[in-house]
Amino acid sequence: MPNDALLKVEKVTKTFGPVRAVDDLSFEVRAGTITGLLGRNGAGKTTTLRMINGIFLPDTGSIELLGAREVAAVRDRVGYLPEERGLYRKMKVLEHLLFLAAIKGQPPVRARQQAEKWLERFELADKRAAKVEELSKGNQQKVQIIGALLHAPELIILDEPLSGLDPVNVVLVRGILQELRAAGKTVLLSTHMMGEAEKTVDDIVLIHLGRAVLAGGLDEVRAAYGTDTVHLAFEGDGSFLPTLPGVTRARLDTNAAELELQAGASTQALLSAAMGRLRILRFEVAAPSLEQIFIEKVGGDTLGEPAASSEEVRQ
Ligand code: ATP
Repeated sequence: MPNDALLKVEKVTKTFGPVRAVDDLSFEVRAGTITGLLGRNGAGKTTTLRMINGIFLPDTGSIELLGAREVAAVRDRVGYLPEERGLYRKMKVLEHLLFLAAIKGQPPVRARQQAEKWLERFELADKRAAKVEELSKGNQQKVQIIGALLHAPELIILDEPLSGLDPVNVVLVRGILQELRAAGKTVLLSTHMMGEAEKTVDDIVLIHLGRAVLAGGLDEVRAAYGTDTVHLAFEGDGSFLPTLPGVTRARLDTNAAELELQAGASTQALLSAAMGRLRILRFEVAAPSLEQIFIEKVGGDTLGEPAASSEEVRQ
C-alpha cells in the first residue's frame, strides 16, 4: 500500500450485540483516487463509513483520517453523504444548501457562489427556489450530494451515491466524481452495484461479513482473475453455451453471456460453435467483470450489466 493514504482503517471491529458488523477490517484510501467500498447488503459498508465519520466509535482498531486520529480535528476537510438521506422538506433548495454550508463554517458569499456553481453542474439550477419536497427523490439526492461538496472538502465520503438515480443522472454524477478526482480530491464511496463501480472507481475494497476479502487497484484485481473469460452478446437462444467444451462456468442473461474457460481452451473454437447457432453481436476475451469476481468471492446474485467491450466481432 502506498504512503500517500488519506485514510487508514486499521484492524477495526464493531459489534452490535451478537452481530459483528465490521470484523478486523483494514484498508487504505490513496490520495487522488476514487475508492469503492463494495459488498452485499449487510456487509458492513455503512457501519464502516459511520465509524470513519465519527458517528460510531470502533470497539477496537484505529482510523486515521487526513493524518488525524480524531475526525473532529479534520471534519471541515471531509464531505459526507450519509446513508440516511435527510433534508428539511419545507426548505427551498438554495436556502438549504446555504444552511448546510453555514454548518461547515463557510462564509455566506463563498457559500452562495459554491451553491450556485454546483446547482448548475448538477443540472438543478432551475430548482434553486423550489421546496425540497417538490423535488423528485433523485434530485433530492443530488442536492444532498451537493451538500457534501459545498465546503470543498479534500476527502469526500459517499454512502451509495448512485443508488436511486436514473441512468442519465448516474452518468452525470459519475462524471462529477471523475472531475473531482482530476482536481486532486479523494473519494470513498460505497456501492453494491458492481457494473457502476467498474466504471467509476480506481481501487476497490470488497467486504463480506465485515471483513475485507479483496482489495487493490481495479485493473490489478481483474487481471489477477485472468483473461480466460469470454463476454458474448448475441441474438438467439444461448442456452447451449454453458455446455460447450472448455466452459467451466457460465452466467447467462437473455442476450448476453459471460463464460469462464478452462486454461488453454480455444476461444476460436468457442466462437465458431457460437456462430453456428447464434447471431453474434459481440465477442470479447477479457478479464472477468467485477460482478463475476464479486459473485465468486462472496456468492449469491447481484444486479448488473455485462462488462464493457474493448474488441468486437460483428457478423
Ligand atoms: P446495505 O448495503 O444493506 O446498506 P451495509 O453493507 O451498509 O448494507 P451495514 O448497514 O453496515 O451494512 O450493516 C452491517 C450489519 O450490522 C448488519 O447485519 C446490520 O443489521 C448490523 N447493524 C448495522 N447498524 C446497526 C445498529 N445500529 N444496530 C444493530 N445492528 C446494526
